Amino acid sequence: MKLDIVTIFPEYFAPLDVSLLGKARRTGLLDVHVHDLRQWTHDRHRTVDDTPYGGGPGMVMKPEPWGEALDTIAPPGGPAPRLIVPTPSGRPFTQAMAAELAAEPWLLFACGRYEGIDSRVVDEARTRMPVDEVSLGDFVLAGGEVAVLVIVEAVGRLLPGVLGNADSVADDSFAPGAMESLLEGPVYTKPPVWRGRSVPDVLLSGHHGAIARWRRDEALRRTVRNRPELAARLDPATLDAHDRRV
Ligand code: SAM
Repeated sequence: MKLDIVTIFPEYFAPLDVSLLGKARRTGLLDVHVHDLRQWTHDRHRTVDDTPYGGGPGMVMKPEPWGEALDTIAPPGGPAPRLIVPTPSGRPFTQAMAAELAAEPWLLFACGRYEGIDSRVVDEARTRMPVDEVSLGDFVLAGGEVAVLVIVEAVGRLLPGVLGNADSVADDSFAPGAMESLLEGPVYTKPPVWRGRSVPDVLLSGHHGAIARWRRDEALRRTVRNRPELAARLDPATLDAHDRRV
């Protein structure tokens, strides 16, 4: 998968050289290009922002450097990437969206700063490429860089060959299927007793059916406690089908 990231802070993306994603880059599964937006400015101060029309506090990112950046990375008339624009006013980012993006060959990320990017940039981009405005949640970050790191990590770990054990994705919270609206329950490793606390007996039983059912029950308990709105969306038929399998 090819990833282009446009930002005024390229140094923010150093973590993409580390751990799973770093390895994916080195083995060629991820082809990442980070671009400094300021290379598409033409004034002495390399200006990327200006005051907002209509007044108000803060600054807005100018359309011209963004237009040139998108034209250079994805020339009009050529193959088009999917453009991802992080913004608190976008659609909420979910595991389902991560899976959808993981199926794309080429993603282009536009990192906003200040009060965001002049809206004409997205309007114009939509005429020649698919565009998703994506929110990480109901809070406001200082810029899109951290949001892009989050999205790239969530998408990157779904690419075939990136995780050592592909099965672990299927058991994750929010995974499609039985876990779709469930949070993963508690997990344990050795030793069996630590500071007087024992691992639940069922996990040491070797009884796969009982273990799967216990995990399902714990996932349900945790979901009801921490995310009641998710639990309300649970489909009893999916849970029953899961129980019939174990
Ligand atoms: N004035 C904007 C608003 O209230 O919607 C907030 C702009 S924020 C200070 C600057 C940039 O941070 C945004 O353009 C976006 O790229 C990023 N950002 C902030 N919060 C975000 C969120 N919850 N999800 C995704 N990106 C976010």
